[in-house]
Amino acid sequence: MERPSEREYEVKADPSLQRELLDLAEVDAELSRVAHRRRNLPELAEIEGIEKTLQDKRDALVTAQTSASDLEREVTRQEREVESVRARADRDRKLMESGSAAAKQLTELEHELETLARRQQVLEDDQLELMERREAADIEVQRAAAEVDKAQQDLEDAVTRRDEVLADLDATQARRDADRAALAPKFPEALLKAYDRVREQRGIGAGLLRSRQCGACKLELDRSQLSEIKNAADDDVITCENCGAILVRTGESGL
Ligand SMILES: [Zn+2]
Repeated sequence: MERPSEREYEVKADPSLQRELLDLAEVDAELSRVAHRRRNLPELAEIEGIEKTLQDKRDALVTAQTSASDLEREVTRQEREVESVRARADRDRKLMESGSAAAKQLTELEHELETLARRQQVLEDDQLELMERREAADIEVQRAAAEVDKAQQDLEDAVTRRDEVLADLDATQARRDADRAALAPKFPEALLKAYDRVREQRGIGAGLLRSRQCGACKLELDRSQLSEIKNAADDDVITCENCGAILVRTGESGL
């Protein structure tokens, strides 16, 4: 039976160090999960949505307040008009009662009082309707203000939740950064470089070879690669042909 040609491996490292690469890979996997979660926090989209709702609610409140204050001005204007009609009628009545008016003027005054009374009736009817509209407008302002408050509260809640999640992520990251800083100096430069290069390109730098399967990409190795691996020395650093990750051999590898 022909032995496959001996292959030269670029990087060599003590098998126990190679096994420790799996610890580093675990640390890096968690750091990647932290970074991924940070970018994809559902709270961020939620906050964006609530901020938009809040803006809409604030706009609606301004609209309601504007129409309420327009009505308020209208009420004041009409009260002044009612007042001036009343003052005019009072003046006419006093003039009539004073006895100083001539007969012709009295007829004119009587006529004017009738006109003023009709005008006052119309104005008072309008005023009633206006009051109702103003009341409805005030209710609308209160409703709109309550919605602004609610959106503001929702925003505060979402920001609090986001900050809690971020604080958790920060804590995990700080712990894992420290783990990495403690682990990394153990490895020879060439091994760490090879590991980091694959990790940066493919996401996972090393995986356990178990039951002929690469622990990084989960694919089963083909026969020719397995026989190459069987022929490799213990300190040869071998990589997965599929994903490029360093394949760490242990007693579990089943070679
Ligand atoms: Zn692989």
